[in-house]
Amino acid sequence: MTIRKILTEPDLFLRQKSKDVDKVDDATRTLMDDMLETMYAAPGIGLAAIQVGIPKRIIVIDLSKEEEKKPLFFVNPKIILKSNSNITYEEGCLSVPGQFAEIDRPDKCDVNYLDYNGKQCDLKAEGLLATCIQHEIDHLEGILFIDYLSKLKKSFIVKKLSKQKKSLERIVV
Ligand code: ZN
Repeated sequence: MTIRKILTEPDLFLRQKSKDVDKVDDATRTLMDDMLETMYAAPGIGLAAIQVGIPKRIIVIDLSKEEEKKPLFFVNPKIILKSNSNITYEEGCLSVPGQFAEIDRPDKCDVNYLDYNGKQCDLKAEGLLATCIQHEIDHLEGILFIDYLSKLKKSFIVKKLSKQKKSLERIVV
């Protein structure tokens, strides 16, 4: 397994739509293993393939707080039902480092997907898992959580991240 580089805002690559996976094969599983290791190392609780530069509809999530890992793999995930009631979490994102904001999302969602072995699955998610799945599926559409904020708030965050990026690249050797 390899830890891959996580792309960060304002990288335009994050804004493209990811494509469906034709077949869950060994290459797909290797990518999922790498994504999981990258996510654990970051650390984060969810990661979409586009965040490591692969525009495929794959997400990994692990909400377990204990030592024992409980990874979830979603290939070609589709939300087929969302609840009318919302829940609010203070969200962050590995592609928007150090920034957090309160985001409202439906508190329940039903999702269809293929698992690690390519098996068709259905899941009824609620609470944190529902929020996490929606956040990650947004990535597959090129959407970041900061897109839900006011223009002013969003541009403040993007400016801040752009500056950080510049100063990171400015090296004298
Ligand atoms: Zn994210």
